[in-house]
Amino acid sequence: MSTAINKQVEIESLLKSFNLISFINNYQQYARLAEKEKLDYVSYLYQLAKVESEERHHRKTERLLKQSKLPPSKNLSEFDTNALANFPKTVLKELISGDCLDQAENVLIFGNPGTGKTHLAAGLGRQWCLSGRAVYFTSASALVQDLLVAKRDLKLNNFLAKLDKFQAVIIDDISYIPQNREETDVLFVLLADRYEHKRIVITSNLPFSQWDKIFKDTVTTGAAIDRLVHHSHILQLNGESYRAKTAGNVCVPETTLLNQNRIIVKLDDQQ
Ligand code: ADP
Ligand code: MG
Repeated sequence: MSTAINKQVEIESLLKSFNLISFINNYQQYARLAEKEKLDYVSYLYQLAKVESEERHHRKTERLLKQSKLPPSKNLSEFDTNALANFPKTVLKELISGDCLDQAENVLIFGNPGTGKTHLAAGLGRQWCLSGRAVYFTSASALVQDLLVAKRDLKLNNFLAKLDKFQAVIIDDISYIPQNREETDVLFVLLADRYEHKRIVITSNLPFSQWDKIFKDTVTTGAAIDRLVHHSHILQLNGESYRAKTAGNVCVPETTLLNQNRIIVKLDDQQ
């Protein structure tokens, strides 16, 4: 083997050991280009470092989106904030930034059916993935079933640890009514497990005043609500069903009582 080929093999093996995949894929082509364009060494290295960074970001985003199980095609670019009365656009911007997750705040989205809760939650989840945050989207009913299966197989702790890897778990449609105490219990275990250390995003048609349908008794209901609202953003989506544009199920979550302007309410220790 000639020295040049030896060197090439060694360079590629070194780059591989540093996990610089885009360097390997591009260094020769970029070297030819640099020669042609008479680029100096620093500019050549800069271009390679740039492509490595961009492709790495792209690969990470793809991985995060895939594992998030987010429903496809629910983008915030298609979410019409003008369709909602008094929708707090500045707060939406703040939520999109993902700072709420970094600052350990839950996001609770209430509203009538069809007002865009799922679309908004999924759109936020997508934005968070794009900014490098790991999130997991699931319906409340699927989550309860997964928790039950894990519990039956004596793997509940493993399952919770798996969810712990996600900065936020988005539980869609927590209006789902568990069928029995066992279902309620596993849901509560999840809320308790993530309390104060990992984030939860929920969507619900049910106001807190009806959450005893979910958690069965007042003590568990109170404890569940307490854990969720402590450090949380509460978004109230008001108006008619976007889809049907007809009056939906009349349901006024008590969060409206917290803020008559129907905008986001931030709860923290001071309140
Ligand atoms: P919910 O979860 O509150 O029942 P969805 O998020 O499922 O409502 O919304 C119902 C349908 O209407 C979906 O197809 C969604 O994409 C669309 N939709 C709802 N609100 C909006 C909105 N503000 N802008 C664009 N599409 C919307
Ligand atoms: Mg929904």
